[in-house]
Amino acid sequence: MTVVLTDITKAYGTQHVAVKDLDLDIKDGEFFTLLGPSGCGKTTTLRMIAGLEQVTNGTIAIHGRDVTHVPARLRDVAMVFQSYALYPHMTVHENLALNLKVKGLPKAEVEQRVQQVATMLRIDQVLKRKPGQLSGGQRQRVALGRAIVRRPNVFLMDEPLSNLDLKLREETRTELKKLHEDLRITTVYVTHDQSEALVLSDRIGVMNDGRLLQVGGPHEVYSRPADVFVARFIGSPSINLLEARLHRDGDGLWVDVSVPGGAGLRHRLPDATARALSNGHAHDALTLGIRPEDFLIRRSSAPGRLAASVDFIQPMGAISYAILRLPGGDAVIRERDHLIAATDPDDPIERGTQVWLEPRSDRICLFDQQTGRAVG
Ligand code: ATP
Repeated sequence: MTVVLTDITKAYGTQHVAVKDLDLDIKDGEFFTLLGPSGCGKTTTLRMIAGLEQVTNGTIAIHGRDVTHVPARLRDVAMVFQSYALYPHMTVHENLALNLKVKGLPKAEVEQRVQQVATMLRIDQVLKRKPGQLSGGQRQRVALGRAIVRRPNVFLMDEPLSNLDLKLREETRTELKKLHEDLRITTVYVTHDQSEALVLSDRIGVMNDGRLLQVGGPHEVYSRPADVFVARFIGSPSINLLEARLHRDGDGLWVDVSVPGGAGLRHRLPDATARALSNGHAHDALTLGIRPEDFLIRRSSAPGRLAASVDFIQPMGAISYAILRLPGGDAVIRERDHLIAATDPDDPIERGTQVWLEPRSDRICLFDQQTGRAVG
């Protein structure tokens, strides 16, 4: 089932606009994640799709049917919350069966569906227990099971894994992903956890301040962020941002980072980027974004390489991160006072060492310094 939001705005009272001019086109069977920081309007958006919150403006359609003013219980969506919202006095079995009984389904069918879902979610051994006698992971699976057993048109999930500890969260998200591959029920998922969004989603909509900044596949929002906010929000450790200028000479278009008293960065832009920038009337003052794994650490200087010193090394197992300072030039770094570059733990670099940095040519991101939007 498709879910289409057209020009949705939600205001609380006359002052506070929680969601502004939102357009979303969620495809049939898609796992779509709304990702953004606390307060950006993701839960409000989900609750509007569920019918738990009225829209101030705009329309919502599910499977081509306008449901903007249809009450929640008639929308055929199932919601899973962060707080599992199970009935504590009922057994797992009763929690799973309740909605089907209310709907008046024959007893045999209720039983068959409950057993099927319980087996699928590996909670068939605890059907006689009450929620208080379950682990957090089991409770979460019961909450999911209660949504699945209804066979809804659309799943709506609001941070359903955030009460689980890290290991269980990672396991459960893998299960959730498998479950979605099997059932292929359109799912709208809300989280502030970028890694969860990358792992689970077919597509991600990144929100900030009530607005949708970019919609794209996990790889797309990571490698081609449409906005400097998206670039910073996705990826851990976060992207390096540097104040830069465009510079043209007979050889082509270059991006320069000048560092007072040190060797700055000079990088020739790939021809396609240069063409796009020339056509797009970009300002000369830009923000240059380079992901830690795209900043190559060199042990010798060469023209255009950025001189830096290794402040310390952060080992992460398969990879290490070098935390780097620019001698006399930290002011050109935006949002933090150091740079981060990935290094190979098998080829260790000592702290205090002088190194030179060079971006991977085709992996740089450029943003307009004023608007924050990607250019080129
Ligand atoms: P979180 O991850 O913290 O839940 P969120 O992105 O889901 O954040 P929302 O819950 O959608 O954010 O809230 C968006 C904005 O609307 C916030 O500024 C919030 O304070 C405000 N808001 C939410 N519900 C109400 C309400 N019932 N009345 C007034 N303001 C509200």
